[in-house]
Amino acid sequence: MSKRAFNFCAGPAALPEAVLQRAQAELLDWQGKGLSVMEMSHRSDEYMGIAARAEQDLRDLLAIPSNYKVLFLQGGASQQFAEIPLNLLPEDGVADYVDTGIWSKKAIEEARRFGAINVAASAKGYDYFAIPGQNDWQLSKDAAYLHYTPNETIGGLEFDWIPEVGEVPLVADMSSDILSRAIDVSKFGLIYAGAQKNIGPSGLVVVIVREDLLGRARSACPTMLNYQVAADNGSMYNTPATFSWYLSGLVFEWLKEQGGVAAMEQRNRAKKELLYGAIDASALYSNPIATNARSWMNVPFRLADERLDQPFLVGAEARGLLNLKGHRSVGGMRASIYNAVGLDAVQALVAYMAEFEKEHG
Ligand SMILES: *Cc1c(COP(=O)(O)O)cnc(C)c1O
Repeated sequence: MSKRAFNFCAGPAALPEAVLQRAQAELLDWQGKGLSVMEMSHRSDEYMGIAARAEQDLRDLLAIPSNYKVLFLQGGASQQFAEIPLNLLPEDGVADYVDTGIWSKKAIEEARRFGAINVAASAKGYDYFAIPGQNDWQLSKDAAYLHYTPNETIGGLEFDWIPEVGEVPLVADMSSDILSRAIDVSKFGLIYAGAQKNIGPSGLVVVIVREDLLGRARSACPTMLNYQVAADNGSMYNTPATFSWYLSGLVFEWLKEQGGVAAMEQRNRAKKELLYGAIDASALYSNPIATNARSWMNVPFRLADERLDQPFLVGAEARGLLNLKGHRSVGGMRASIYNAVGLDAVQALVAYMAEFEKEHG
């Protein structure tokens, strides 16, 4: 068997090795049925079982209340940038958005195609290194919803609190933080997450939506983008992304075996403390984010001299530490340390960083 590297990719990201092995073992002959999951009818008893089990495991992991639907849709998180206003924003209504970085900006730009958008707060005044406190937000009187991005995957800026917006439905893009630590789903109207960070393969997006928010879509909303239609059809109005859904289900099973989200939270806390601790203690590496807004899952850092970036990456790759190059808009480095990236990977990274600093610092 080939040796698996430590993969710090922001997305599509590392998957648990045990999950890949299980998928491999089941690939040609799923549980003695003589065919692969990819070759099954999505309406078959076998596949319906796989789909239902995945949903139930996710419900268990996040303690999702029964008045929420869980949808397994396509088009990634980006499709939701349009789908949310089409379903939740009346043509003469207004929606509030919070701008904390590149992903929230994309959500804002797309939503503007469909109606009035009020940017209630922006981290721009802090160069996107800190999150404005809610006292400084300019909320609309009758917002259809408030949208925010709890974890900005590129900037590495994360809320460690949940906005309080009373009766206004709270909509959260949890693409890169879902399942990383415990959340109270009942505080949200809608949660969505592209799968390829902390759930499974790309292309799939999981939407958790409170039932009273269904049935509000505009008449012009395409059928495929209508939450009510998706909910009524068990996310099978058309052929769903069957293999991605199945593989996500294997990840949910794995998470349960690991002790669920509480155990992940503990592990993730240890991982991020180790990495930020190493960055803060060094003279070569730095991270500019306010300490209470540092992302647990995506850790950007810079080297004091940009000319060291390339040698750093080359040395990292030689040690099997992959995909540490920062997003092109930010530069520097970024280590994404999702659930499937173990403490051993972070330890290996920190050891390499110290070694590199000794040589070049
Ligand atoms: C990756 C990401 C997206 C985009 O996801 P796609 O599935 O590629 O559309 C949106 N929001 C956040 C926070 C992300 O991390």
